[in-house]
Amino acid sequence: EQQAKELIWKKVKEHNIEFIRLIFTDIFGFAKNMTIHKDELDDAMNGKLMFDGSSIDGFARIEESDMYLKPDLTTFQVFPLRPNEKSVAHFFCDVYGTDGKPFMGCPRNTLKRVLKEAEEMGYQFNVGAEGEFFLFYRDEKGEPIFNIHDHAGYFDLSPIDKGEDARQDIILTMKKFGFHIEAAHHEVAPGQHEVDFKYGDALSIADKWMMFKMIVKNIANKHGLYASFIPKPFANQNGNAMHCNQSLQDKEGNNVFYDKQDPLELSKITKNYIGGLLKHAKGMAAITNPTINSYKRLIPGFEAPTNISWSRGNRSALIRIPHARGKRTRIELRNPDPTANPYLVFAVMLKAGLEVIKKGMTPPEEFDGDVTDVIENLPVIETERYPRDLHSALEYMRKDILVKEVMGEHAFTTYIEAKQLEADQFAREVHHWEIDQYLKKY
Ligand code: GLU
Ligand code: MG
Ligand code: MG
Repeated sequence: EQQAKELIWKKVKEHNIEFIRLIFTDIFGFAKNMTIHKDELDDAMNGKLMFDGSSIDGFARIEESDMYLKPDLTTFQVFPLRPNEKSVAHFFCDVYGTDGKPFMGCPRNTLKRVLKEAEEMGYQFNVGAEGEFFLFYRDEKGEPIFNIHDHAGYFDLSPIDKGEDARQDIILTMKKFGFHIEAAHHEVAPGQHEVDFKYGDALSIADKWMMFKMIVKNIANKHGLYASFIPKPFANQNGNAMHCNQSLQDKEGNNVFYDKQDPLELSKITKNYIGGLLKHAKGMAAITNPTINSYKRLIPGFEAPTNISWSRGNRSALIRIPHARGKRTRIELRNPDPTANPYLVFAVMLKAGLEVIKKGMTPPEEFDGDVTDVIENLPVIETERYPRDLHSALEYMRKDILVKEVMGEHAFTTYIEAKQLEADQFAREVHHWEIDQYLKKY
């Protein structure tokens, strides 16, 4: 650790860094940061920096408002700006209480706890998260122009379009930040884009996902555009997903989801894992799909999942098994959207999978007999509908002790209370649709 600190100091001097951002994430998935001067760097690295946690949503009760930010030294990164600009660097941080213990309301700690459990079972959890977003034009006041009909030129199919330009800049910036870009393309809906970066261990991918969102928003800004990760901006267009590709790797680096003896080349562990995700899908829904708008995306016809099932090809299934095998064998959970907190999503997914692996349940029956037929018809874990709105998702979450165990009592309760308020507020609103449909009819 001493060596790591020295190395960081070396970089600080080398890059002429004056200010360092200490980034952490609240339970709702919003990045927060505290900027310090380099004079405070030693204190920060020694975990001595205190902040008032009570001002942060869902963070702390008044009586435990003093919190410590502990930078994860491995996440130190210099902002790749032009050489003559004042450089900035950042750390991703964990939040600790005055008792010196990891704070339960810090989602990064939450993920680390479950990752440790996986590690004790001999597994590294790998995730690849795919990022979809919309780029909107801005009006004179800088506000995003929401209605695509307001803007005749919105259908950005042309290669010289502003959106393509911004996307290329996003990719270049991400590369400077050390991202390995796997794919980037225009998505199905007008103004919709996708950027996928290389998978890795879950913690680093969750941090990267936070960076990714910041980069997308900043670069879009620079291009006079507005980037939004809202799940479903337009009723009749595809929405934004955050597909989570996932697999477990053993100590020797083997992907334990792969089994060449199996007709599907998927190990028993994979089938257990799928079983876990399906079993807890409803209980995790308010984590993977945390907004009112999330559920507008999860309807038939837009490549988004609607049913609790798995499939090799069907995109309406919650879980799809991409074709790749061997080291790249993985399952793709398709329901999460980018309004979700990546740390919590990864934590609950993994825990759900591990639970079933641990219990040593025999693989679900549907793997007997004709597998293809079984996949098409999905008989045993029958294809139940995924929750249709946030309110019902919260009802399932309250009953899911696994999710509660992952989050800890305090964060679990705070999260549900805040999200229930959001659902209730929406329920009280009178929607345009109701007026259009009912005002004259009755
Ligand atoms: N945008 C789609 C969704 O809402 C996913 C499209 C894809 O398969 O990449 O889930
Ligand atoms: Mg996509
Ligand atoms: Mg995908």
